[in-house]
Amino acid sequence: MTLTLIRCGTLYAGGEAAPASRQSLLMDNGRVIWTGPRDQEPTVEDASIIDHDDAFVMPGLIDVHVHLSYGEARTEEDIDLFASLEFRALRGMEAAQRIQRAGYTSICDPTTSGRVSLAIRDAVDARLFGGPRVTTSGRNISTRQGLVDWYPTWIGVPETSIGQIVRTIDEGIDAIRAQVKDGVDFIKLAMDGDSMNPSSVKLACAFRQQEVDALVEEAHRLGRKVVVHARGSEGVLHAARAGVDLIFHASYMDDEALDAVVRSGAAICPTLSLLVNNIEFTQPTDPSHPALVDAHKRELEAASRNLEKARKAGVRFLVGSEAGFAVTPYGEWHARELQNHVDYIGFSNAEVLAQATTNNAWFTRDGGDVGRIGAGSHADLLVVRRDPFADFGALLDRSNIVAVYQGGEAVDLAPNAARKRLPTEFSYAMWNEVYTRDTLAARARVAA
Ligand SMILES: [Zn+2]
Repeated sequence: MTLTLIRCGTLYAGGEAAPASRQSLLMDNGRVIWTGPRDQEPTVEDASIIDHDDAFVMPGLIDVHVHLSYGEARTEEDIDLFASLEFRALRGMEAAQRIQRAGYTSICDPTTSGRVSLAIRDAVDARLFGGPRVTTSGRNISTRQGLVDWYPTWIGVPETSIGQIVRTIDEGIDAIRAQVKDGVDFIKLAMDGDSMNPSSVKLACAFRQQEVDALVEEAHRLGRKVVVHARGSEGVLHAARAGVDLIFHASYMDDEALDAVVRSGAAICPTLSLLVNNIEFTQPTDPSHPALVDAHKRELEAASRNLEKARKAGVRFLVGSEAGFAVTPYGEWHARELQNHVDYIGFSNAEVLAQATTNNAWFTRDGGDVGRIGAGSHADLLVVRRDPFADFGALLDRSNIVAVYQGGEAVDLAPNAARKRLPTEFSYAMWNEVYTRDTLAARARVAA
């Protein structure tokens, strides 16, 4: 008998459900089998009872935008070149556990290197390690001007990169078929680059419309959803017209592109954390300062304006944090993206909680089995002291997390304090300045 009864001070079942006080839930073999008011509890003999009578019980959160293979990278070279794929998989497993301890019981990884996140997903499924449920793409697929066309042509895109460049529709179709054979859950296309990519035409769509159409058609034919990276308007337009399922960013989407999104029914996941954290956290000593901060301020302003229009037009929003960079470390800021949806797009806390539960669940391979608490759902639960409907600080503040249950089992919330970073994980950036006689003389003058 594995029956467990949990008494909840307040129970939020996910989606648009209203939180209800003095509820109970019964779970068996990792699944919820009953929920209801305390005074209607079924009589079950031998059930163990857990008392969360003074706490708020909700579905484990879902983050649809994390990159387990990036390793809190400080440079693109860190992401693509350093650390073996094998090391990245083991490191990513620990990262997934840190995300789980922050209350996230399902994550999606749109862009990994090699088959790193597929291996993490499978290791969790095989119960080799505890961790959140993982839904993942393979490497992202792009072409010249796209996100992964980062290095000069004489270097090319290395095998260990997070992306692969395809030169023709046929190459793209072959890449999709190979990824599906390898077991990806969905296909990720990079439609354009970003503010800092030195080798792309600024935010032009990398693919022509007919190319995107062909790639999306093939992925759908093989039963896989398609997600795209598209910051620029043209990328959003081509993606929506091709019928993609989910668009990341959409910051510079114009009215024509928004109209195409509305017609297509594609969802948008803005992922503002990278911008907001970079703007707020970066120091003048960081090599990209102030250029990237300024670029991100411009993008955040445009994104806020355009995404608010999308909200009013009824576009379905998902929420994801882009954890994996040095400004978005694992397990730290995921819930901050919920607040970004309130502050920059104008959603209410209740709307954002629905996004982080049932809306996001739609994109996972577990579908309606996660992101909600009800008969038949996985017993993936987050238990917090304070009510997140009033304040997302309740999710962000680690001391507020009482318990996380993954498939009915309590997760050990103790942090891995011994973790350290190896010098072999990073590029050999040695100096921020060139130390000429003039720079030294200027420094001496300032000091004097
Ligand atoms: Zn990303």
